[in-house]
Amino acid sequence: MSEEVDLFVIGAGSGGVRAARIASGYGASVMIAEEFRVGGTCVIRGCVPKKLLVYASRFHDEFEDAKGYGWTLHEPTFDWPTLIANKDKEIARLEAAYTSNLDRSKVKVVKSRAVLVEPHAVKLLATGETVRAKHILIATGGWPSVGKDIEGHEHVITSNEALHLTELPKRILIQGGGYIALEFATIFNGLGSDVTVVYRGDNILRGFDEDVRAHVRTELEKRGIKIITKAIVEGIEKVDHGLCVQLSDHHQQILVDKVMFATGRRPNVKNIGLEAAGVALNDKGAIAVNEYSQTNVPHIYAVGDVTDRIALTPVAIREGHSFADTVFGGRPTKVDHTDVPTAVFTEPEVGVVGLTEAQAIERFPKVDIYKATFKPMKATLSGRDTRMLMKLIVDGMTDRVVGCHIVGADAGEMIQVVGIAVKMRATKADFDATMALHPSAAEELVTMRTKFATRVREAAE
Ligand code: NDP
Repeated sequence: MSEEVDLFVIGAGSGGVRAARIASGYGASVMIAEEFRVGGTCVIRGCVPKKLLVYASRFHDEFEDAKGYGWTLHEPTFDWPTLIANKDKEIARLEAAYTSNLDRSKVKVVKSRAVLVEPHAVKLLATGETVRAKHILIATGGWPSVGKDIEGHEHVITSNEALHLTELPKRILIQGGGYIALEFATIFNGLGSDVTVVYRGDNILRGFDEDVRAHVRTELEKRGIKIITKAIVEGIEKVDHGLCVQLSDHHQQILVDKVMFATGRRPNVKNIGLEAAGVALNDKGAIAVNEYSQTNVPHIYAVGDVTDRIALTPVAIREGHSFADTVFGGRPTKVDHTDVPTAVFTEPEVGVVGLTEAQAIERFPKVDIYKATFKPMKATLSGRDTRMLMKLIVDGMTDRVVGCHIVGADAGEMIQVVGIAVKMRATKADFDATMALHPSAAEELVTMRTKFATRVREAAE
């Protein structure tokens, strides 16, 4: 006889794990299936291992900067296998912690691929067992997309493999101009690789504020990262000393050791039985959900990257929690997807919350812009050639700060806190009334007295 549960969760990543634990806390019987490793993209092959590599890559600057502050260091050396082994140990520790937290929450974890076979039934492929469930949550995440097959596509790695390379590539070409491409470009550059970024558009970080895009590009180029825009990789050929990459840009060829594509991620919707359960997709190929994360099949919900709303860990966690509150806690809860702070862990780092200048102009008749670029204090004695950018976007009618954009050290840490003020609808006058903390870079956010520009939307004809 098949087992019966109140909730069956497919996928033990950030969203699925949170939903399972909270639902169980409300008294539901919960089973969660994971075919790979508990923790999902964020813990196993995303945010966490990436950030550990980011930390590793930043020591390069620290060693160089130390000289200006009086330190004499012998030539530092770096060992990639040590970093990867230590990173793997930490990921294994986190995976175990996630699993024991699920156990403690009385959630039954099954290591198997799970496929919907009927609207209320899931088959565990590892055992052939069928589990019946009153509610089902699909939290299967996303997977790197490498686009259409090109000649030599078998040589392409994605961020998944980049985290497990046996040696540090001397030369790497990365295609893409988004989060993953630029974070890995920064990591490899910091660790000593020769890095070329190839991006199909005019400038990297499409969707970010234009000043941020220009500033980050300049800073990355100053660090020696080559950025080729308006080009794509057309083919890859294995040659004696590496991989010869053919670009569309004037038929340029580049010789490298590794080619990585960071060309977006797609929702994991294939072969999980969506058709058998009648679950519909939206026009982006993601599971279509309403504001409660409910699919077109009323007892089936979906959260996280598989729904392609905002592909960020904290968003998936919030969606998973809200689902459990709604279905098992008797408290229908919608997730607010506005003003979500986000960071790109490049060097320098990017931290953003709210609207870009262009988005604000579309939304408000009058927009005030405040911005500052300056040499951070630490760069004075170190002599490092770098500048920070801070920009506030203000609704000119209400004085509300509707966007904040930071490029520079600790931008991610700063934007998390600024995010509270923006969420609370703080005005520019509130920012100005806040006493500066000196000496810090963040004080710039509360001392921007002079307006850089006022943009007035032209009246529609
Ligand atoms: P992004 O959407 O950020 O970037 C994808 C890049 O690939 C874009 O520059 C895109 O170009 C380009 N691209 C897409 N298709 C092709 C193609 N066929 N040929 C050439 N170039 C192509 O995706 P990522 O993979 O970098 O990251 C996925 C998501 O994961 C992010 O959007 C983010 O939500 C999340 N993430 C968050 C991180 C963080 O919080 N720090 C870190 C890493 C990921 P174009 O701009 O022209 O579309």
